[in-house]
Amino acid sequence: MREVADAVFHLSLGPRSAVNAYLLGDVLVDAGAALHGKRVLKALAGRAVSRHVITHAHVDHAGGSRRIVDALRIPVSGGAADVEALHAGRSIGPPRPRMLDAVADRIASYPALPEATALEPGEVVGPGFVVLDTPGHSAGHVSFWRADDGVLVCGDVVNAMHLLTTRAGLHEPPAAFTPDPARNRRSIRAIADLEPKLLLAGHGPALRDPVALRRFADGLVD
Ligand SMILES: [Zn+2]
Repeated sequence: MREVADAVFHLSLGPRSAVNAYLLGDVLVDAGAALHGKRVLKALAGRAVSRHVITHAHVDHAGGSRRIVDALRIPVSGGAADVEALHAGRSIGPPRPRMLDAVADRIASYPALPEATALEPGEVVGPGFVVLDTPGHSAGHVSFWRADDGVLVCGDVVNAMHLLTTRAGLHEPPAAFTPDPARNRRSIRAIADLEPKLLLAGHGPALRDPVALRRFADGLVD
């Protein structure tokens, strides 16, 4: 685990930061897929962790959560519109042909979090991070913003790597996993307006280049 800003730690769960979790003070953001749970716990050993928050109800962010919450006995929360999916251990995806439902549901399911509560937009989490509503990739997707030093944990509003090649760079999240891409583009523009000095995404390396995010947002086509 590496400190990337004051009291902000990056927990890389795959090669080239393919899957990320973050520790904001004593608050764990995301927990990878179910197979990452053990690794997250190991990385947190010896640290005080009092709360777990989830950027969005997808299997690669909430999959490890059950294990963490049980082991550390801490409360867990997500964006209000994602809480129902967290309760069921479901991923929120776009509509798809019914014949694919059973298979897709099985792949995208994860241990349920029936105790999950809703984060309030504007609520302060950890060391000065404010909850922002950033919907699109899921209806209840949230990000965590600290204006003092310009740190933004943005989940999958943008991917900071190409998910197939793992090459670093900004991309929209894949349409196949994004129920409302147009809404997500509005969220991308909104986070670009914040001009984050440090952008911490769910996938890919940390980005210290607000101009790159601005340029990426400006180049999006609806
Ligand atoms: Zn993801």
